[in-house]
Amino acid sequence: MSFLEKLYLPAVAKGMMITFSHLFKKKVTLQYPEQTKEFAEIYRGKHVLKLDDEGRERCTACGLCALACPAEAITIIAEERKAGEENLYREEKYASTYEINMLRCIFCGLCEEACPKEAIFLTKELVPSSFEREDFIYGKDKLVETMDKRVDVSKRQTPEVLEFKKNKKFKHNR
Ligand code: SF4
Ligand code: SF4
Repeated sequence: MSFLEKLYLPAVAKGMMITFSHLFKKKVTLQYPEQTKEFAEIYRGKHVLKLDDEGRERCTACGLCALACPAEAITIIAEERKAGEENLYREEKYASTYEINMLRCIFCGLCEEACPKEAIFLTKELVPSSFEREDFIYGKDKLVETMDKRVDVSKRQTPEVLEFKKNKKFKHNR
């Protein structure tokens, strides 16, 4: 090392200059949770199980979402709708249990795409953190929307997907 290098002072001064120069640059970090990034309209966050306009659950427990799920995160138990329950469930079969394990879910959106009944959608909402594993099992109590707080999913699917789902030539659309 040269005499100057042995002093270390030039290196220290250079380091301090770099540090000070960053004080006046635009910050790239966000002060989360006070500040959040703007999410895309089709950001894939927590799921919602939709109701129809009359407040009935749209899900018919067909299981296609669970079948499409690559993470095997969805558990469904199907039940027959009983007489008098027509105001609760739109179809003759409904999911008495519908659970998503958010620790397994990779938010790929395949369940949303697979659903022929427009029943399950992902939303822009984040799944809150927790120290307890059971807090990440989302049942119908956390997934089904309520009529006073309906979730707008109009921007979630491409026109091509919507067109595909209307096509009566496919049995599951009838
Ligand atoms: S978003 Fe993907 S991983 Fe998560 S439940 Fe749906 S299909 Fe499964
Ligand atoms: S695909 Fe749709 S209708 Fe079928 S079980 Fe899943 S959410 Fe329900």
